[in-house]
Amino acid sequence: MPLALAIHGGCGTLPRAELTEAEWAAAKADLAAALRAGWAILAKGGPALDAVEAAVRVMEDSPHFNAGHGAAFNADGEHELDASIMDGETLAAGALAGLRRTRHPVSAARSLLRRGDPLMLIGAAGDRFAAEEGHEIVENGFFSTERRRNNLSSMKIRELVGTAAGASEAEKHGTVGAVACDAQGHLAAATSTGGYTNKPVGRVGDSPIIGAGTYARDGRCAVSGTGKGELFIRYCVGHEIASLIAYKGLSLQDATAAALAELTAHGIGAGLVAIGADGAIVAPYNTDGMYRGWVTPDGQVHVATHGEVEPAGQA
Ligand code: ASP
Repeated sequence: MPLALAIHGGCGTLPRAELTEAEWAAAKADLAAALRAGWAILAKGGPALDAVEAAVRVMEDSPHFNAGHGAAFNADGEHELDASIMDGETLAAGALAGLRRTRHPVSAARSLLRRGDPLMLIGAAGDRFAAEEGHEIVENGFFSTERRRNNLSSMKIRELVGTAAGASEAEKHGTVGAVACDAQGHLAAATSTGGYTNKPVGRVGDSPIIGAGTYARDGRCAVSGTGKGELFIRYCVGHEIASLIAYKGLSLQDATAAALAELTAHGIGAGLVAIGADGAIVAPYNTDGMYRGWVTPDGQVHVATHGEVEPAGQA
């Protein structure tokens, strides 16, 4: 099987003109680091599940993406984090929502997957589970960055003056995710997010909802989404793409395009990365840009924010 790994850092990229060279370079370096972390596992014959967890952990630590450190603030000026991970071979999954203190939500979700039952935990119980499993626990402020604080201030102002709907994708969105196919042909997907800026306290998005923002099933596809989570949940986007492939015989490209078209019809920003059963990679989005990247079977790293895709060396 050809190895495959693709990641996204959310469809809320700043317009290219507003990204300084330094910011672009730093985001690109973190995307490449995430890909290298995942690829190192795949290249050694390791499981897709390990690869997606490793890639997402790197992006959770990056201040450039809305997950872990750098997560969006909710309406109370705090962070509530959602994440999930799914094994395409067994359909085992772990999901956590509303975490406030777990540094790496994706790894806590992985522990839950390993345990097998329950599949999903929320809030303080999720943080408690993560602590019991030995995951790093931090103060909520650990996740804060100045950019996200500015996003919250501007969204509060927009709310007051009634222009919230006109907020840029960068003010609203972000999420990180990874999909992989390993040497055994097994697929996996993982997604982690801070949700969106100024979200109501307790709001849960699509990222921890298996079948919506995250889905993996061997023989079909692995999917991780970014964009207005409420619509991803309503359309069960991850499962919908897998079903279009399985029952309608669509190619990965056509299935993801069909799912994205339905979201686009609602006027929302959305994007995703997906891998097919044969290791094919797609990364469609309908916004100005989407942080994304993949490794081609020859081990070449590619990263992008907007239209142009740049080679970033060997994995
Ligand atoms: N999908 C995420 C959520 O709704 C946010 C995003 O990707 O922009 O929580």
